[in-house]
Amino acid sequence: MGLERVFRLSDEERSAVFQMGGGLPLGITPYYASLMDPDDSNHPTRRTMIPLPGEFIQSPGEADDPLGEEHDSPVPGLVHRYPDRALFLVTNFCATYCRYCTRARMVGQSGEYHFNTAQYQRAIDYIAAHRQIRDVLLSGGDPLTMNDERLEWILSRLRAIEHVEFIRIGTKVPAVLPQRITPALTRMLRRYHPLWISIHFMHPVELTPEVGRACERLADAGIPLGSQTVLAKGINDDVETMKRLMHGLLKIRVRPYYLYQCDPISGSAHFRTSVEKGMEIIAGLRGYTTGYGVPTFVIDAPGGGGKIPLVPDPIVGRDGDFVLLRNYEGNVYRYPDPQV
Ligand SMILES: *Cc1c(COP(=O)(O)O)cnc(C)c1O
Repeated sequence: MGLERVFRLSDEERSAVFQMGGGLPLGITPYYASLMDPDDSNHPTRRTMIPLPGEFIQSPGEADDPLGEEHDSPVPGLVHRYPDRALFLVTNFCATYCRYCTRARMVGQSGEYHFNTAQYQRAIDYIAAHRQIRDVLLSGGDPLTMNDERLEWILSRLRAIEHVEFIRIGTKVPAVLPQRITPALTRMLRRYHPLWISIHFMHPVELTPEVGRACERLADAGIPLGSQTVLAKGINDDVETMKRLMHGLLKIRVRPYYLYQCDPISGSAHFRTSVEKGMEIIAGLRGYTTGYGVPTFVIDAPGGGGKIPLVPDPIVGRDGDFVLLRNYEGNVYRYPDPQV
């Protein structure tokens, strides 16, 4: 097995790899694998990429499509859940496959999705026919695994729709295949402004000089960069790790955007933390570090309710015309709150 040429697998990892069937494939770029400890199966990013037997255990409340994306899909590959924005799935391929993937039901697999020109055209026609869609988010799969021409075909057609004000791409490529962020790619992307990119980062070990240069190239092309992180047990679920990640991101001009509670996909129990854990991490960041470094902690509501932000409630009560507010250190302050 190729994996064993690089990693000394634990018994658990080996048994999980042999148990794999037709689901989410195993795939790690050589660059990303080189950042992992070949001998330590508890290495944080290795935990996100090499399966464990827990992946085959379905726990209560878990589902293959927990966010009900198929239900909000008017045409194949398009999820239109919020009034003014749409999620456009443009490929089912990724450079690496995260074991907690919320779209494990479709990524890396041949299924009913084709991701060909005809399917893209149906999605583009739907967007063109719905004037309320002002924001299109390209995801998948990972859009930056497509070649420049194919990606440009999609971007140029979206840009030609007058009511599409804002285009963004969700990707993990800058973190796992920074070599893909070539001058030619950034030259192409900058023709489709305003274009924003959200990058999936999990852990400070990902923030190498190569990744720094890839992000710099994108930022220098005028592309605002955000991060999306999934809170994962034993991987990044402590304030110190999260703070190092957020500080490292700000240094490479990436603005932390969302911290996600792990979606309850089938076989995700070994990744999922309590909701309280995420609140504790946010409480450990807010006030203690740069506001730009504090992401919004969200749960993507099972069943298709969309993202619900969770913030520790700062209102502790009222005193007449005053509202009582708790600050980051736990001290209470009075704000004169007009009673309208
Ligand atoms: C996350 C998501 C979006 C974008 O949400 P923002 O809060 O605007 O980043 C749009 N559509 C779907 C289906 C989503 O899951």
